[in-house]
Amino acid sequence: MEGGAYLAFADVLYDFMNKAATEEHPAFVRLEDIHAKRDASSLRRAADLLAERGVPFAFTYTPVYKNEATGESIFLGEDPVFQDTLRYLVSKGGSPILHGYTHQHSGETAVDFEFWDPYRDGPIGEGDPVYASARVERALHESFLNEIYPLAWTTPHYAAGQTDYDVFSHFFTTAVERRMPVELYGSDQFFPYLIKSDMHHQILIPETLGYVNPDAGRDPEALLADAKAMKVVREGWASFFFHTFLDLNLLTEVVDGLKAQGYRFVSLTEFNNKVTTKDRVVATGINEVSLHLDAQYKHEKTLSATGELVDENFSFGTMSGQVDKYVSMSKNEIQVLEGVYRRPRFTWSNLHLFRPALTGVSSPVALALLFIGMLTLVTFLVIWIYLITRKTVASARNIATRREEKSDALHLRVHRPLLPFRGHRHLALPAVQRAADPFRVHARFVVGKRA
Ligand SMILES: [Zn+2]
Repeated sequence: MEGGAYLAFADVLYDFMNKAATEEHPAFVRLEDIHAKRDASSLRRAADLLAERGVPFAFTYTPVYKNEATGESIFLGEDPVFQDTLRYLVSKGGSPILHGYTHQHSGETAVDFEFWDPYRDGPIGEGDPVYASARVERALHESFLNEIYPLAWTTPHYAAGQTDYDVFSHFFTTAVERRMPVELYGSDQFFPYLIKSDMHHQILIPETLGYVNPDAGRDPEALLADAKAMKVVREGWASFFFHTFLDLNLLTEVVDGLKAQGYRFVSLTEFNNKVTTKDRVVATGINEVSLHLDAQYKHEKTLSATGELVDENFSFGTMSGQVDKYVSMSKNEIQVLEGVYRRPRFTWSNLHLFRPALTGVSSPVALALLFIGMLTLVTFLVIWIYLITRKTVASARNIATRREEKSDALHLRVHRPLLPFRGHRHLALPAVQRAADPFRVHARFVVGKRA
């Protein structure tokens, strides 16, 4: 455990930087190193114990198990038990954290490093981003295909090169780990609180208590003693990880102890996280997201923090190019966006899958009401247009009739007094003279019009 002087210094930084802090102390627990060969029942039991206590948690998983010595490899997609276990953890309030593609390089998953060569003591990628990005890309592909949506990243054994960290930050806005500031194994830095943007522009969720390991003197008492010290720091976190092959009572002991010390367990879904590949996005909180589609249908899903499908929709046609969206989710919701090459058929029964995402209407009852409402509106509009048209036609006819009557009246009014007064002579007058006679001009106009 890092010294008390460092913690006091970390706390004083708040005053030094003139930063506001709350007296809140978050706690964070993650079940560590989950892969296809882990015992499913103890994982489920651990999730049950945490859920019973109302404790949200996270778990780090590796989608592909590999052992170079035995030649074994198990993909998440070919192991239904592994898939079910991960979904069960999600259903109990567990947030997935991607923990490498295979979490190994030349050895066995979870034992070996993936991005660090311990023999050469340097990053395996040797400063080339391709090694790391290909692995993260494949890991996310395997996860999405099996509907496991990670919210953050944890580097296997906390060891990678600076280029690798940059690569991770392109895919994940959030990492849960200690991080090596220089390329020296064991230099990974400890922070007592959340870092909003580290040197690779990532949010770092701290890990402050290490992991339960009684053989190395890290029993629950040791972790709890460290947690007590962590409360010296304003907003100091109590964050640890646990391997479920140990006695699960060790887990509950730490969790109950932290709660008794006044810590509040937080979920990753309470933070703004974004995981991005070219045509796939997972986001929580408030985020601006972009997809790059290539003649693909856009598929949007809203999931609850426990993995239930809250809402879903597809674009009607395929789309190409950049698609942007402003995402604003509640604390318990996750947004998934992806480009897909197939979509459900457009039928009456799945009409709701194609409505514009903006309406936010998802229940069939609400959709039916919306439909009836629209129908009523259209009916009223048609009746209204009919009535208006009828009225206009009638009044036009009326005007025409009245004009005719009026011109008859004018004809009579103008001609009758003229005739006895001037007799028939004017009819023989030349055109110029007739035009000079104002009465006559008017009469002529009326007469002409009637002709
Ligand atoms: Zn690991």
